Amino acid sequence: MAYGFLYDPALGSFELSESHPFKPIRLELTRSLLSELVLLKDAQLTAIETIDEASLAGVHQKRYIDMVKAVSQGQTRAEAYSYGLGTGDNPIFPKMHEAIMGICSATVTAVDKVASGELKRAVNLAGGLHHALADKASGFCVYNDLALGIEHAVKHYGLRVAYVDLDAHHGDGVQWLFYDRAEVMTISLHESGRYLFPGTGYTYELGRHDGRGLSVNVPLEPFSEDDSFVECFEAVVPLALRRFKPDLIVLQAGADMHRYDPLADLALSTRAMAKSYQRISELADELCDGKLVATGGGGYDPYRTVPRAWALLWATVSRQQMPELLPESWRQRWQAQSPETMPEQTFDDVSSWKEIPRRPQIEAQNRATVKRLLATLEPIWRERFG
Ligand SMILES: [Zn+2]
Repeated sequence: MAYGFLYDPALGSFELSESHPFKPIRLELTRSLLSELVLLKDAQLTAIETIDEASLAGVHQKRYIDMVKAVSQGQTRAEAYSYGLGTGDNPIFPKMHEAIMGICSATVTAVDKVASGELKRAVNLAGGLHHALADKASGFCVYNDLALGIEHAVKHYGLRVAYVDLDAHHGDGVQWLFYDRAEVMTISLHESGRYLFPGTGYTYELGRHDGRGLSVNVPLEPFSEDDSFVECFEAVVPLALRRFKPDLIVLQAGADMHRYDPLADLALSTRAMAKSYQRISELADELCDGKLVATGGGGYDPYRTVPRAWALLWATVSRQQMPELLPESWRQRWQAQSPETMPEQTFDDVSSWKEIPRRPQIEAQNRATVKRLLATLEPIWRERFG
């Protein structure tokens, strides 16, 4: 069965503003890398089926959708700001509604084709807009493509969906949208909200009513590195997924956990990122017949980091191998416009990185966070799952 790479050059039209850190060029950097590595075959390029406004209204409030449409058409609305529109993070740009509908359509198409069995797995690198809320734009996100995809899987296919968010920022939008739902578990590993936007994602955010115990948060210390990240991931994610037993896993693979990322303070290398993609892939095989949909997300080091991370993501999801060395021609092509030296290797040479002070304290703090989280969750899970 095929693996789908959701693709349309128009997906790159989601450019908030020229100076905004959210750079759609990341998509072309990644696609061109995969293409040069011959990891992307024409048959894998999956066409996007446009969703209608009724599906959008399954997650977002009508008055909010109307507001987004109005400002996208250039209309001035005094209340736009109270919907998070026209802020520094979410500037208004022409045809914003259409651009984001394209991204949402791609994620919903990915979910639909995997849920129906037409595709084994699928990836939409333009997706991953995890901060958008029912009636509010937030953190560069206007509509929540992930929530739309998950809702589609629940409503149309009756699936139980586990959402795993590896972005450096807490996956707050998806968490709150499914906070009291029994069909969806959300798991987010992120830099602690004490230091980073959106300021949520604490261990005590557990879900409520039918969703109690299904919201799982691992807030990590700033400057957490590979070993500590992998340790926390291993202690929580397999356990939570095995308890919940999903029919489908949706992975948000924001690439801003990397040490080079300028907007967050975690210090992962591409090795730990690749390891986490691999483990999610294995858990999908173990628990839900391999069914996996992955999206992009954050990632503000567009030349050096994002293409490597997302090429690794695609290679893992589609069961292929990334070579250790990146193609010379690809590096040269992009070096002309990259402000940094383009990397030569898929995996970072962490031995060349300056040592992070307080490493033992950071690791001990993360370990204590995981211990506290599991001590709270396990009794709830016992009651819930037996
Ligand atoms: Zn992020």
